[in-house]
Amino acid sequence: MAIWNLGSINADMVYTMPHLPTAGETLAATELDQFLGGKGANMSVAAARAGSLAHHIGAVGPDGKWAVDRLTEYGVDTRHIAQIDVPTGHAIIAVDQQGENQIILYSGANQKIDQNSLKQALTQANAGDILVMQNETNLQVDAARMARGLGLKVCYAAAPFDEVAVQAVLPYLDFLILNQVEAAQLERSTGKTPDALGVSDVIMTLGARGARHIDGNTGVIHDIPALPVTAVDTTGAGDTFTGYILSGLDRGLPMVNAMAQANRAAALMVTRHGTADVIPDLKDVLDARF
Ligand code: ATP
Repeated sequence: MAIWNLGSINADMVYTMPHLPTAGETLAATELDQFLGGKGANMSVAAARAGSLAHHIGAVGPDGKWAVDRLTEYGVDTRHIAQIDVPTGHAIIAVDQQGENQIILYSGANQKIDQNSLKQALTQANAGDILVMQNETNLQVDAARMARGLGLKVCYAAAPFDEVAVQAVLPYLDFLILNQVEAAQLERSTGKTPDALGVSDVIMTLGARGARHIDGNTGVIHDIPALPVTAVDTTGAGDTFTGYILSGLDRGLPMVNAMAQANRAAALMVTRHGTADVIPDLKDVLDARF
C-alpha cells in the first residue's frame, strides 16, 4: 500500500530582525535560515518517517531543487514533483527579538501543478492506496474525483480553511482532518455537525487536549487525551499527526491504534523546534516515554 500526497512544497525563509519592519522602512536582517516547509511537504515527510511509501505529487520552480533533494533524503518518492517555470512556493518570515513574527506567503508553483502530471502519477496508484491533500495546491477536486474512480481512499486536511474549497471536495472524502478552529468554521458554513457531513471518518485535532475521532456512519465519538509534554514549538504538529495517522491506516492499523500513534508522534513533535526537518521517525515515536 502507499500514500499519494497532492501537496505544497515551500521554502520557509526565516529572517531574524532587530524589530518587525514598519511601512516604508528598510531594515537589515541579522540572520537568514532556510527550512523545508509547506503542509504538503511536512505530511509526506511524516508519512515516510512513519514507515509508509510516500509519493509526493507537486511542483517547484527552477529554484526548488534543494527542496526536492531534501524530500528525497527524508525518504519521500519525489518522481512526481515537476520542475516548472514558476518560482517555488515560499514564506518570508520576519522574527523579532521577542519571537513575534510577520509572514508573507507566496504559493508560486504549488498552484500551477499540471493536470497531466497528476493523472500520470495517480494512474500508478493501486486500489486501496490513500490520497491526501491540503488546501495549498490547485487541482484538489480533480485529484479527489480521479482517486475515487481508481479505488483510492481520499483524505483532506482542511487547512488553510476555505469554505468553498472544502465543500467542493466533501462528496469525495473518506477521511476529513480538521483542527478545532477549522471544525467550528466548517460547522458554521455547512450548518452541519461533523458526524452529518457524509464522511466516514472525521478526525479533529484538539491541540493540548488531544484528538477526537468521529465515526460518520455510527456517530460514535472516540476521544484521546494529549500526552503530557512540555511544548516548545507546535508548528507542524497537525501535519505530523496527519502523516502518521494515514501511515498507520496504510500499514493496516485499526483507526484507534493509528490515532494513538499519531498522538504520540505529534506530542514528540511539539517538544522540538522546527518543521519537516525534525519530524520524528517511528522508532523514536514507539520508544518515547511520556
Ligand atoms: P499546526 O497548524 O501548528 O500544525 P494544528 O492546529 O493543525 O497545528 P493541533 O490541534 O494544534 O493541530 O495539534 C495537533 C496534534 O498535536 C494534537 O492533536 C496533539 O496530538 C498534538 N499536540 C498539540 N499540542 C500539544 C501539546 N501541548 N501537548 C501534547 N500534544 C500536543
